[in-house]
Amino acid sequence: MIKTPIYLDNQATTPLDPRVLDAMMPYLKEHFGNPHSSTHSFGWRAAAALDIAREQVAGLIGGPPEEVFFTSGATEANNMVIKGVMAQRGAERPKIICVATEHKCVLEAARYCQQAGYELEILPVSEVGFLDLSMLEAAVDDRTALVSIMAINNEIGVIHPLKVVGEIVKASGALFHTDAAQAFGKIPLDVEACQLDFVSISAHKIYGPKGVGALYKRAGDSRSLSPLFSGGGQEQGVRAGTQPPALVAGLGAAAEIAGAELDGEAVRTKQMMTSFKEKLFSALPELILNGDAEERWAGNLNISFPGLDGDLLLANTRDIAVSSGAACASAVSGPSYVLKAIGCTDRRAKSALRIGMGRFTTKEELDYAAEHIIAAVDGMGGLKP
Ligand SMILES: *Cc1c(COP(=O)(O)O)cnc(C)c1O
Repeated sequence: MIKTPIYLDNQATTPLDPRVLDAMMPYLKEHFGNPHSSTHSFGWRAAAALDIAREQVAGLIGGPPEEVFFTSGATEANNMVIKGVMAQRGAERPKIICVATEHKCVLEAARYCQQAGYELEILPVSEVGFLDLSMLEAAVDDRTALVSIMAINNEIGVIHPLKVVGEIVKASGALFHTDAAQAFGKIPLDVEACQLDFVSISAHKIYGPKGVGALYKRAGDSRSLSPLFSGGGQEQGVRAGTQPPALVAGLGAAAEIAGAELDGEAVRTKQMMTSFKEKLFSALPELILNGDAEERWAGNLNISFPGLDGDLLLANTRDIAVSSGAACASAVSGPSYVLKAIGCTDRRAKSALRIGMGRFTTKEELDYAAEHIIAAVDGMGGLKP
């Protein structure tokens, strides 16, 4: 017997891996010290936890541990980079470039800078979600401080070619940032190969705890950004505030496990989601896949159900936990701006569901979900292309 509801919203967040919880527990209990207390063993013990996690995170992106800074999540890391770089460099180089499908927090931070007087260029994407490299090349110039291009899109799963983007960005002397909340621990990332200056990371997208993440910040130019917070000089002054050792240990363990299982999980995810997708599309051939079919994270399936309303469909598939858009945008009604950016009409965008499998999803669960979605569509009178 299958346990419902079935969780298929792994782009919104993931459950905590029990192995991650085990790594966190000692720091919630006996090792409670403040990592910034340098005069006694309670502090040293907590600081050691941060050191280990810094290595675990760095190991997954090919950078040195000293260039990893802990934050409350990817939202904070994104804000630190965008606002911090502009505060530091905006006078010489006033321009920020990103793509239209960035996470809300990147777009909003960039718009905040625009309000403050800096220039923002938001590049369009193609009908499958890719940025146009020649447009990027035309946009980046010696007035550009920062280019921020996400690694994997959280709604449509599209993977951006960071290596090529890095070459274009670095040729102009701009700094290169990627929001890797959906990519870190899922696909190989290399800050050297991609010439990245900044990478934003979140623990809760990789079976770690919510409320912690990291910013990779290249040391090359120590004054690449102004810190967002004033405070006690933690994290080399880049991010003030007492670090949470239990959460950080959880992020580290989550990164370590994700790295060790990365290849196997990629294969398993692709096999399971391909068969799930085939089941849906053979029963409902009018379905439309949103985002490129190949260059995508296989764990994400974003599908439009022509003629149906996504929210109504959700209401008819209550024992499957999926979403009709990004969790962070769900307070805002109306069609997804990401789907609009790939050229979806309002109707097609509103008919979309995002289905995301994860580490703990089973084949039985996906079979059940496929049957229920197909039955719900039939019950609603079928698709109307
Ligand atoms: C989840 C997510 C974020 C926000 O991360 P938090 O750690 O929850 O702040 C940012 N960008 C992308 C692409 C995400 O998927």
